[in-house]
Amino acid sequence: MTITQPDLSIFESLESEVRSYCRAWPTVFDRAKGSHMYDEDGHQYLDFFAGAGSLNYGHNNAVLKRALVDYLERDGVVHGLDMSTTAKRTFLTSFQNIVLRPRSLPYKVMFPGPTGTNAVEAALKLARKVKGRESIVSFTNAFHGMSLGSLAVTGNAFKRAGAGIPLVHGTPMPFDQYLDGKTPDFIWFERLLADQGSGLNQPAAVIVETVQGEGGVNVARVGWLRRLVEVCERWDMLLIVDDIQMGCGRTGTFFSFEEAGIVPDIVTVSKSISGYGLPMSLCLFKPELDVWEPGEHNGTFRGNNPAFVTATAALETYWADSSSMEKQICARGEQVLEALTEIRTEGCKEYRGRGLVWGLEFHDKQRANRVARRAFELGLLIETSGPESEVVKLLPALTITPEELDDGLRILVRAVRETA
Ligand code: PLP
Repeated sequence: MTITQPDLSIFESLESEVRSYCRAWPTVFDRAKGSHMYDEDGHQYLDFFAGAGSLNYGHNNAVLKRALVDYLERDGVVHGLDMSTTAKRTFLTSFQNIVLRPRSLPYKVMFPGPTGTNAVEAALKLARKVKGRESIVSFTNAFHGMSLGSLAVTGNAFKRAGAGIPLVHGTPMPFDQYLDGKTPDFIWFERLLADQGSGLNQPAAVIVETVQGEGGVNVARVGWLRRLVEVCERWDMLLIVDDIQMGCGRTGTFFSFEEAGIVPDIVTVSKSISGYGLPMSLCLFKPELDVWEPGEHNGTFRGNNPAFVTATAALETYWADSSSMEKQICARGEQVLEALTEIRTEGCKEYRGRGLVWGLEFHDKQRANRVARRAFELGLLIETSGPESEVVKLLPALTITPEELDDGLRILVRAVRETA
C-alpha cells in the first residue's frame, strides 16, 4: 500500500505529547465498519486491535447502531447520572437474564464511572471498606488502569513513574509461570501471609487478570486460578477479577473466569460491555459486600444511557445464545492458532492465548515493534504489549469473518518474515 503523507499538523502542534497510538499509526482515520478502518485517503486497514478490546462486535455494528440511532431519534435520555431510566432498566434486566442468571452469578451491579479504571478504583475501595484493611495484592505485569489506585496495583515501571507520588498499599506477587516453572505456585505468597515477621500487612483483597492483556498476553492456568481462590479463602482476602479487557467474550466465554469454574467476590467489566465503543463500566460484587452508603462513590458520567442501549442490543444479539457465540470464538481462535504455528519457526520465542486474544513473543525484543510497524504499512492494525513491548498482541473483533481473519493473518505472517 502506498502511504501518502497525511496532514498531522494540528495534532502535532496542539495535542499533548502524551498521545501514543497515533504515533504507531501515523494517518488520519475517518470511517470504520466491522473489522476495517479507513483513513482520509481511502486506505483500508484490517483491525486486529479492536479499540484495545472495546470493539468486540466490530466498528459501527449495524444492529447496535440501529438501536442507538432509534434511541437518539426518540429523544431518549442521554445523560442521567444514576437516575432510574428506561434504558438502564432494560440493560439491567437483560444483564440479569442473559448474563448473570444462566451462570448462577449472584452479583449486584454498580456503575462506577465511564472507564475501566473507575471500576477498578471502586473495587479497591469496596474491598478496603469491607475488610477494614489497606493492603491489596496484585501480580507481576498486571495492568489495572492509570488513576492512582489502579496504578498502585499495576506493574509497568514507566506507567507507575507517571504517578509522581509514592504508590502505596499494593504488594506484587508472582503471576502464573512468572518464576522458573518449578517453584510451587503461591509458596512465596503464603509464606509471607503466614510469617508474622514478613512485613506483609494482611491484605484486604487480591486483584488479578485471568489473561494479562497489557502485560504481554500472559495466560493464567485454570489450576492456578483455582488455587488462588483457595489462598484467598484461607487467608480471608477478597478476590477481584479484572475482566475489563478479557471479559465480554474475549477468551471464549462471557466472563474469562468461567472456564476455571470460580466465582470471584468482585468483578470489573468495561471496554466491550457497551459493545459500540461507548464509555461504560461495571463493578459487580456479591450482595453481602454491598456496604456502600448512598453516594459514597459517585461520578457525573455513571449513567451513559446510549451505552446502556447498545449494551442491551449486544447482549440480546450475541449472548442470548451464548453457546453459538462461544463456538464462533473458539473456531476463530483455532484459525489464529494455525497461523501462529506457521510463524513459530520465524524467530518466535513463544505464542500464547485463549479464545481470540493471542500474543506472539520474539527472541529479539525489538522485533514486535518492527512487525507492528510493517503490518501497518501492509494495511493491518496490530499493537504490541508486554513490559518492553516485546509481544505482538492479536485482538480482532469476535465478529470478524473467517476470510477477514485469514487476510489479517496473511499480512501478519508477511510482516514477521519481512522483519527477520
Ligand atoms: N484493567 C484492565 C485489565 C485493562 O486492560 C485496562 C485498560 O486497558 C484497564 C483496567 C483500564 O481501563 P481504562 O483504560 O478504560 O481506564
